[in-house]
Amino acid sequence: MHYIEPHGHMVSRTTADYESIAQAGCVALCEPAFWAGYDRSSPAGFYDYYRQLTEYEPRRAAQFGIDHYCWLCINPKEAEDPSFAREVMSIIPEFLDCPNVLGIGEIGLNKNTKNELAIFEEHLEIAQKYDLPILIHTPHLEDKLKGTKLILDALKNANVDRGRVVIDHVEEHTAPLVLDQGYWAGMTLYPISKCTAARAVDILETFGMEQIWMNSACDWGVSDPLAVVKCALEMKKRQHTLTTVQKVIFENPKEFLSQCPNFKVNQLLQ
Ligand SMILES: [Zn+2]
Repeated sequence: MHYIEPHGHMVSRTTADYESIAQAGCVALCEPAFWAGYDRSSPAGFYDYYRQLTEYEPRRAAQFGIDHYCWLCINPKEAEDPSFAREVMSIIPEFLDCPNVLGIGEIGLNKNTKNELAIFEEHLEIAQKYDLPILIHTPHLEDKLKGTKLILDALKNANVDRGRVVIDHVEEHTAPLVLDQGYWAGMTLYPISKCTAARAVDILETFGMEQIWMNSACDWGVSDPLAVVKCALEMKKRQHTLTTVQKVIFENPKEFLSQCPNFKVNQLLQ
């Protein structure tokens, strides 16, 4: 069995983690730009981070036969100061030609503030200007429903191509909002907080297997780089066919990502 990890923050992970996910069948991994566990003090900090995402991580992943891709943006957690955020955003175009860049992400909202929303809308403009897909972070816990609605309104106003937008971290109460409006949905699996494997499979069984993917985030917090394959096992335990499992963990992300000009299916599968 092989799979795509569509959302993993490998800058916070060891090389041994790449080895583990490769052994579990990971053939491609996508790393959205996000908070790196600390606030960066200058746009130069983001410049170095984008170099890490476009140069260093692809080389680490390639040692294990994994294709590494990334998404670029300034994340909402560090976008509260609009002039700082705009300086960072001005760097992004010079990285868009890098061969592993998929699009703009993970943009979105963190605390649902006016400044975050303004910067979110400006990222949508960049994506439209360069004709790129979009990956969106939705806030956690009590901010999620309100934040998801604000994001859906902003996307509607910007008149984006909905089939080229994935809205991540959906849960039971936000998945139908996202899917019913024609967007892709992502579920982020965490071992103790947020969406567990059992909840994720419940969501799949409730809302269907179309336009949806699962990811592990595998960030700096308590998280599990093998969460996607563990959820695949949960699907098998519930008697879902291998074809269905393979659809959710490989075919679906492949279908969405194939809309990104730089995405290619791993040569090991050809
Ligand atoms: Zn993330």
